[in-house]
Amino acid sequence: MDAKLEKILLASGPNLCRNLDGIECGDGWFPLLLDLIGKLEAICSQQEARGKENQMVARQIKEKLGGLRFYVSNAPQEAADLVQEAEQRSTTTCDRCGGPGRIRSLEGWLTCLCDAHVEEAERERR
Ligand SMILES: [Zn+2]
Repeated sequence: MDAKLEKILLASGPNLCRNLDGIECGDGWFPLLLDLIGKLEAICSQQEARGKENQMVARQIKEKLGGLRFYVSNAPQEAADLVQEAEQRSTTTCDRCGGPGRIRSLEGWLTCLCDAHVEEAERERR
């Protein structure tokens, strides 16, 4: 992911992302992640306000097999549901532009792309 976008995402979840030093996925998922991190950060703040010891923390955010993998510890059910929803949404969101996409196999690599970007990706591989 673009370093600037990555910085914005990490800054949008200072509690949630306190142990993260990077996000490994395409720029197209930026809006999806911004939305998710914002919601999870709010849950984190509520936990903090209640003085909960095991505060939720993101462990790893990356792309795997064409879909988002968002690993988080100490997530209450509400947060786990949001993560699952975002991971599901990533499988129909082009990871380059954020447009409608689907998971495709490019010479064995699974990646979620829209029609325009699958063509671009194929040209790059030639
Ligand atoms: Zn695209």
